[in-house]
Amino acid sequence: MEKFCVFCGKNPTNKTNEHVIPDWLIKLTGDPKREIIAGINWDSGEKRKLAFNKFVFPACNKCNGEFSEMENQASVIVKKILREESLSSIEFNTLLIWFDKIRIGSYLAVYNFNKKHYPIKPSIFINGINKSDKVSAQFLVRVAK
Ligand SMILES: [Zn+2]
Repeated sequence: MEKFCVFCGKNPTNKTNEHVIPDWLIKLTGDPKREIIAGINWDSGEKRKLAFNKFVFPACNKCNGEFSEMENQASVIVKKILREESLSSIEFNTLLIWFDKIRIGSYLAVYNFNKKHYPIKPSIFINGINKSDKVSAQFLVRVAK
């Protein structure tokens, strides 16, 4: 499997770089250029060290843009949590969906780094969370009213 968009799984159109760990969160928590250990290189057994702001993976420009609103919402929610403010049920649901975005993105990051060692190709991509969770988010909005 060559380069693929972490959102849709297809060859990236108008390629951008997706920060699997969001750029706003990296900046919120320290120097964006700080070195991180992104697992182990499965070829060499060495730690995979890189600047945090370089922990990026291919994405279509359009796909990346479709998730920017979720990132904006997640940023507001995380900052509310840091101020010890309570969340609405909608905000809590958005936070959980965003966690799923991060989880799938992180799985695809590990796959991207070590793809020749994987016996199977990924069948889930970040936009897979959107379909079922959108329905549940709409349900929660109805219940909250
Ligand atoms: Zn895409």
